[in-house]
This record gives sequence, C-alpha cells and structure tokens, in this order.
Amino acid sequence: MIEIDETTLLYAAHMDLELAAITRRPGDKAKVLDDISLQLLEGETLGIIGESGSGKSILLRAIAGLVHVDSGAVYFETPPEFMYKAVKLEKEYVPGGSNQPAALSPASGISPELADIRARFSLIAGPLRKTRKVRKEIYFVFQGSRTAIDPKKTVWDIIAESFKRGTDLNKSEIDRKIREVAEAAGLRESDLQKYPNDMNVEELQIVNIARALAVEPKLAILDEPTSDMDISAQAQILNTLRDYQYSRGMSYIVASNDLNVIRVLSDKVAVMYLGKIVEYSTLQNIYSGMLHPYTKKLLSNAITLENGKGLIDSEISDRSPALPNIPAGCAFHTRCPVAFKHCGWTAAEIAPLIREILILNRNTDLSNFPPYHELIPDTAGNSLKITFEGGPHISYEFVSEFNRLIEARILLEGGTPLQAVSSVTVSPGGDFVTIQLLKPKVPKLMEVRPAHFASCFQYGGLDEYTDRQETREPEEKPSVEES
Ligand code: SF4
Repeated sequence: MIEIDETTLLYAAHMDLELAAITRRPGDKAKVLDDISLQLLEGETLGIIGESGSGKSILLRAIAGLVHVDSGAVYFETPPEFMYKAVKLEKEYVPGGSNQPAALSPASGISPELADIRARFSLIAGPLRKTRKVRKEIYFVFQGSRTAIDPKKTVWDIIAESFKRGTDLNKSEIDRKIREVAEAAGLRESDLQKYPNDMNVEELQIVNIARALAVEPKLAILDEPTSDMDISAQAQILNTLRDYQYSRGMSYIVASNDLNVIRVLSDKVAVMYLGKIVEYSTLQNIYSGMLHPYTKKLLSNAITLENGKGLIDSEISDRSPALPNIPAGCAFHTRCPVAFKHCGWTAAEIAPLIREILILNRNTDLSNFPPYHELIPDTAGNSLKITFEGGPHISYEFVSEFNRLIEARILLEGGTPLQAVSSVTVSPGGDFVTIQLLKPKVPKLMEVRPAHFASCFQYGGLDEYTDRQETREPEEKPSVEES
C-alpha cells in the first residue's frame, strides 16, 4: 500500500504487537496490531477510524514510541534515498518468512540489508538518544485531557512548557507564539492565567491541542482530539488545525470516532478492524467508493447526534468480537453480510448447524440417521468428527443424504458457514464421520483500484483455493456393509 514519494515524512512498516505485551500474560498471543504498514506525506493528514477495540489508540502510541511493538519499523524524516531503499526492502519482506529468499537471515527472517536499514533509521530500533532527538518533532495529543495536564501550572505555563523540548526561540518569540496559538484555538487572555481545576474538560482539551500546535512539530498525533467539545469549539479547533497545517506544513495522524473530524481533516483514511487495516485510500475514495464490507457497515451505522456529530456506533448493531477472541480467516467473517465459503469458517462455528441437522433428521428420517454421540472439533485441522452410538454402522447412503441436507441447510437463514464444508467422509470402519472444512486464510490488503486498498476475498486473493477439495462426495464407498 506504499508508494514512495520524496515528501514522505513517516513510513511505518510491519508493526506487530501481541496482547501479551499489554496484559503481561505470556499466553495472550492475539494480535493487537497485526502487520500494520502506513505512510504519511509532509503536510498530509491520515485519519484512522474503527470501532472501540479496533487498535486505533494503540497504533497511534506505537507510532509515537509510547508503546513498544514486538516487531516492525518506523521511519521518520529519513533521507529520501534511504527512505526509498527502506520502503523497497520492507515491501519485499513478508513477516513469517514463509516466502523469503534463501539469502535471508534464518534467525529473524529479515535480510541483512533490511536489518541494517532498520538499525540505522527506524525510531523503534534506533538508540534512545537519536530517538529522543527525532521525537521533538513528533507531538502526541492524548485523549482525556485532565490526566495529561499538570494541575499545579497555569495554562500559560503549560503551553510554555512545550518549548522545553528544545527550541531556538527567545522568550519574547515564545510569548508571541503562546498568545497566537491561544487566540487561534479560542482561548481568552484570561484563560491563560487559569489553573486546570478552574477549567472544564472541553477547555482543557483545547489547551492540550494549543500546546501541541505552539511548538509547530512536524507531526502531531491526535487521539480523539475533539471528543469533549461542543460543535462550535470543535469547529474552531478543526479550523485552527487546518490553518496551522497549511501555513506551517505540519502533518497529522488523527484517530477519531467522530466522522466530522475525519472528514474535515483527513487526506487519506485507514479503516481498522481488530488490529488490522482493512481498507486504506483517499478520503474521497473511502466516502464515495468504499470497498470493504466493514467500512460500509461502519459508515452506514454512524449515529448523528443533536450537536451535529456523526459518531461511529461503538457496537454497530452487532457486537464486535473482542481480544483475545479474534475469529479465524477474515476476522470480520462472523459479522459480514456477504461472507462466503472462503471467509474463514471453523469447525466450532459449524458444529451447531451440524447438530441441528443430525437431531432434526434423526426424528424425521429414522432409516439413515443413527443417534450421534459426540461432535468433536479439531481446531488445527479445521474438521469436525461425529461419533455415533452403537457399533460401526455408518453407510454410504447416510453420507449422501447428509451431503444433501447440508446443501439444503445452506440455503436457509444462517446457513452460510456450511458453505465451507469441503468433504464428508466416513472412517474405514464405519464408526465415525469426518466433516472437513476449507482451511481458513487471512485476506491480504491489496490494491483493488488505483491507490485504493482493501483486504477482502471479494476482490481477489483466493488463487490457491481452486483446488480439488471442494467436493462433498465421499472419496470412496466405505468398506462397511450398508445397513
Ligand atoms: S473476506 Fe470479505 S466477504 Fe469475506 S468475510 Fe471478510 S469482508 Fe466479508
């Protein structure tokens, strides 16, 4: 999803973070961030949207170095010739190493060349001193204004403190900048002498943003910048952010549930779902030609509040799975209105439907349906074993009838998961049946249209599924006597 450009300010590559890093429980292998790559040009704003729990805030913190990722790289203000090389090598690198050229280092799966580039230029890998120096140019505006502000300082001192990160300005220039940004952000002269406890949450959030803009960093990272503001304060702050961007060439990365904020500020938009970017393009492409079923659901369910905000519903009509329970295959398949057989259905997900078929038809068609004993999902093999009461007696006719009933159930409401059944076979001894499902595969973010990326099998990525498995006929007649 990355095109290199001489004005590239930041390039984050293959950022990965396991839940264990946050919970401190080594068994929490679910990915909070899963192979995230993104690019930001100078003077550009990248908006990030997604429900609560999608990973937006963690991603912002990871880019700012406030959360240490397990792997990946962040290049910031890297000289163009090295940025070009870094992008090329990062694009060639596939985490996991399965299709890496033989020359790659077996220890890490990263080529020596890429390891060298990362060591020299990635903020994550760089020596702390270098990182600190660069981080003067990155300013993070936290959500939840009161906790981010020292209650013992006046607003003036709070904004002035930002300049301690390093500046060549003298005192009168700093004073001028403080007055300038305060006025632009909508703070009165009298507000500058107030203490945080004298201000409401909205005013404090304005102070937070004003102190970030005052120092004019190359990059401001904003997490829900206007969540505590009414419509007029929001409008003023968004205008100020835009003005500063145009006049100072600043770049922003902004995560927000407020679509108005995203619409006003963003040039490009990344849509996140359960730790992954599932769609990425220009603002116009996302709004006028969105591709991913999750984006469609997210934006069509946004709620308009009285104050004019178009907020992303935190539970868009059905509840998102939460970490660590990320569904297999396409993580959205359990909620996707257009999911189909390749989207990642598991044995555990089809078990209730299989049970339903077995019970219903035991009652109505006694000849071929013996009472079943147990359904045993095999997670690793993505298959379901059915054992039956009594001795070996599963007939070929049972399997044929069972296949027919699966086909019929697929057509009824909620039957989509059964599309993933690739074969139904009976054991040689006729004492159990195995239902095999297609192996879950994760859709990759791919360029569906020029500069418009989405990860959804509707748009491709299923080449290896044109295989022989997609039959539900038993491979051979079972070697048991038909009952
Ligand atoms: S791959 Fe596409 S169609 Fe399938 S579940 Fe995911 S979003 Fe839906």
